[in-house]
Amino acid sequence: MLLGAPGSGKGTQAEMITRHFAISVTSPGTILRRERDLGTPLGVEADKISKQGGLVPDDVIVHLIEEWLNLHGKEGFVFDGFPRTVTQAERLNDLLEKLDTALDLAIWLEVSEETVRDRIASRLQCRRCGFTTSVTSASFADRPVCPYCDGPLIRREDDDTSVLQKRLAEFKSKTEPLLSFYEKGDTLHRIDGNRDREAVFADISALIEQRSK
Ligand SMILES: [Zn+2]
Repeated sequence: MLLGAPGSGKGTQAEMITRHFAISVTSPGTILRRERDLGTPLGVEADKISKQGGLVPDDVIVHLIEEWLNLHGKEGFVFDGFPRTVTQAERLNDLLEKLDTALDLAIWLEVSEETVRDRIASRLQCRRCGFTTSVTSASFADRPVCPYCDGPLIRREDDDTSVLQKRLAEFKSKTEPLLSFYEKGDTLHRIDGNRDREAVFADISALIEQRSK
């Protein structure tokens, strides 16, 4: 499981883990975007909340994660940006107990507010498949297009400053308490997420390899 500050580019690390270790990965954002695109009542409601910078209710997130786990979690799994609150973490523990499985690792990517701002300012996302890249890491012709599906690359609508402020406040009050929650066990590892993505991924890989021995 990857934990991290909002907008820290976690999606990329999760994608690298999937490619390298062939472990299924998901994030609440990915699941919710799919629900929204399908036009389900839940997806539409959640989209409205997150556009205003709020957190989607724990019940909704946990329910969606449980459905995903039942479908895709049989051979191991990685959650990117989940759990985000202590309530979600407690519910995840119940869920894992029911499935008779345990959490091997909780990874906390430590990212400064400055890094978050820099990354968000340069972030582009594919409207169709959710692929995330940055203005600097790709050179585009006059029209930015997704390298995977040819969808339009756009700045995310929730990247406004006011929304970012609200999200950082939510992070402090609701997500940071997860540190002490997971420090009680021996699953928590902190990684400096302010470095380039290869350096961060090397540290994550080492942890996964250690655990799977
Ligand atoms: Zn795409």
